[in-house]
Amino acid sequence: MAMMTRSGTGVPLDPARMAQILDEYEDLADFDVAEAQSAALVIEQAAQEAGEDELRWRARLLRADMVERRGELASAAKTIVEVLEWAQVSGCTRVRSRAHRVLARLYRAMGDPAANLEHMIQCVDALDATTPVSGRIACLIKLADAYAETGSMPAARDRYEQAVLTATQHGNARRQMMALNNYAYAEYDRGNLPMARRVLERLRAAGEEHGRPLDFSALDTIARVEALLGDLDAAERAAHAALRAYREENAREADAEADLLLTLAFVQRLRGELDDAQQTIARVHALCGRHQLRFNEVQALLEQAEIEAAAGDFAHAYATMHRFHTAEKRLQSAQRDAQARNRQALFEVHEARRQAEWFRDQARRDPLTGLHNRRFIDERLPALLEKATADGSPVTVALADLDHFKRVNDTLSHETGDQVLTAVAAMLGRTDVGPSGFVARLGGEEFLLVVTGVDVAGAALLLEDLRQAVAGHPWRPLTGELPVTVSIGVTAAAAGDTQGAVLARADEALYEAKNGGRDRLCLDPGVTIAERRRFRDGLR
Ligand code: GH3
Ligand code: MG
Ligand code: MG
Repeated sequence: MAMMTRSGTGVPLDPARMAQILDEYEDLADFDVAEAQSAALVIEQAAQEAGEDELRWRARLLRADMVERRGELASAAKTIVEVLEWAQVSGCTRVRSRAHRVLARLYRAMGDPAANLEHMIQCVDALDATTPVSGRIACLIKLADAYAETGSMPAARDRYEQAVLTATQHGNARRQMMALNNYAYAEYDRGNLPMARRVLERLRAAGEEHGRPLDFSALDTIARVEALLGDLDAAERAAHAALRAYREENAREADAEADLLLTLAFVQRLRGELDDAQQTIARVHALCGRHQLRFNEVQALLEQAEIEAAAGDFAHAYATMHRFHTAEKRLQSAQRDAQARNRQALFEVHEARRQAEWFRDQARRDPLTGLHNRRFIDERLPALLEKATADGSPVTVALADLDHFKRVNDTLSHETGDQVLTAVAAMLGRTDVGPSGFVARLGGEEFLLVVTGVDVAGAALLLEDLRQAVAGHPWRPLTGELPVTVSIGVTAAAAGDTQGAVLARADEALYEAKNGGRDRLCLDPGVTIAERRRFRDGLR
């Protein structure tokens, strides 16, 4: 894998190089986890210094991926959720898709195949041309695996075939064989042995066509399928070939090696070569002891009991079976504990996210009245106006300003002023502003109402009701003789309107209402005669 250089201490990492290194890691199936993790860290820092957001988050995700592979699921989950949120907010589909894929892996490792499937569906859903085709095929294969593991073989077959076809069309022999390999394993795993054998035949043919040897996991699947279908010679050849391939590939996955040996022991037992089988199992036990492979150890005990029984040594077989049951129970309870811990950690991540959402919402609210603030308006209104321009949906914008509010402050007190503001804000907040409308405090005693879902005449009638409600409210306990009223200026958004333009028109209409004597609603002169008539008709 690529040599890394920390910026400043040698050749600096330019963005193109960072992207290339990330591309390579993202496309690899197996690599040195520690090396990938440190590469991700270096790129994350370099990208941050260079202000390259997408690269920084991609590197971050790669780092979380490696943390997950090391089994630190809780810590990985936290980072992945952060990456996912960034990708959603910034609209970066490539990172979003990848984050779902890594999250899917995490759920799979936690023993939750349904959540694995759910995230793989979202991963594939978010795929577009920004992800290289090899990566897209890999996602399809993982989606197929996820379907297979939840028992949906028809859906799985569909995706495997699609992956094989796409890989073939793009001349990607590695992905084509990976798809067939996983396809065959899925069929074997669901007990569809003749089907598995047919897919393995296609895999073998593809390997010959492209001059690529089958890898150890494919050979292992062949050994198991042939053994179960009764061709023990073919099974034994494949089991030995798998172990040779494992050594030739220089693979360093102790659990995979233990699996291959278990297959060999199984085949040797079926052939009646019980001494060989015993020796093979002894090798598995040694490997499990050295690498603390608890899952493989349990499987090895079961196979050992079978071998002893086949040899007629029932006393030993019984004792081994007993050890198998004890070990299996212990493993299951350890797995349950780990699952509970991981679930707790994931729950905390979601809880932290809800809190973050709450804080984000608070930053967009006015503390005195609880209404939205200027920041919210700046984020929401332009998008609403664009949508109105695009699809002609009606948007009415109104400014409401308290009349002679200075008098309340001056004659009574600032506290009373605050109470009046809060009470008026509460009445404004109850207005039915439609599906995407909102009410905000623009500043001081001035409010913005954006009404959607009805035309400007309908919206103006609603706002006129509001004006009357404010004027008719029993203010006496709070303000004594001083009346509390609002003036309202109303305009309708037109195609191509900007936020500045609609606010200026609403402000002019408000000025007219103030000039006309206050406690009234005025429509911007741009509102059509027909709309005005419908508004006035509605008033009667
Ligand atoms: P007009 O009818 O022309 O709008 O008269 P007005 O007195 O309402 O308008 P003006 O803009 O002259 O005064 C607004 C006052 O609102 C001034 C300021 O002291 C008061 N004000 C602004 N924000 C707050 C607030 O948060 N609390 C209180 N109590 N008063 C506020
Ligand atoms: Mg005022
Ligand atoms: Mg004012």
